[in-house]
Amino acid sequence: MREEHRSVALKTRVGLEMIGIPAGELLEMDLRLEAVSEGVLVSGTIDGTATGECVRCLEDFEEPVEVSITELFAYPGSATSETTDEDEIYRIEDELIDLEPVVTDTIGLSLPLQPVCDEDCPGLCSECGVPLAIADSGHSHAILDPRWAALADKFPAAERPEA
Ligand SMILES: [Zn+2]
Ligand SMILES: [Zn+2]
Repeated sequence: MREEHRSVALKTRVGLEMIGIPAGELLEMDLRLEAVSEGVLVSGTIDGTATGECVRCLEDFEEPVEVSITELFAYPGSATSETTDEDEIYRIEDELIDLEPVVTDTIGLSLPLQPVCDEDCPGLCSECGVPLAIADSGHSHAILDPRWAALADKFPAAERPEA
């Protein structure tokens, strides 16, 4: 059994369309490598920081990501390797373990399809598109009857009701 701590800079972006960990971000990996009869069992956690775009208010935000992995890498020639397909179980190739597909898949599955900057994000005002989180608490629009609107145009701007 061996423990490994690695900080790895991502070569390519990992994630989904609206949220992902950008290339160049560091992934912190705390891993246990255990020799078992059929191969090496890799388990542990991977931490990083995702950047997303909120589907409600369209603001960019950052969010910590932590995923756990447990994956067997089979020895070449082992019974497991002989009796499973390539895409069922990972293999040790040239005495190396390639964690990239595991990390990419696990992080992709852990991220939300509809990311929000905050569970309570109120989104945008449907009238003017201003983010409601930064608008005044009483933000609203007086909808003028078109007949009154024509009349309001005849008054100086200062006397018109606040829009
Ligand atoms: Zn938002
Ligand atoms: Zn508004």
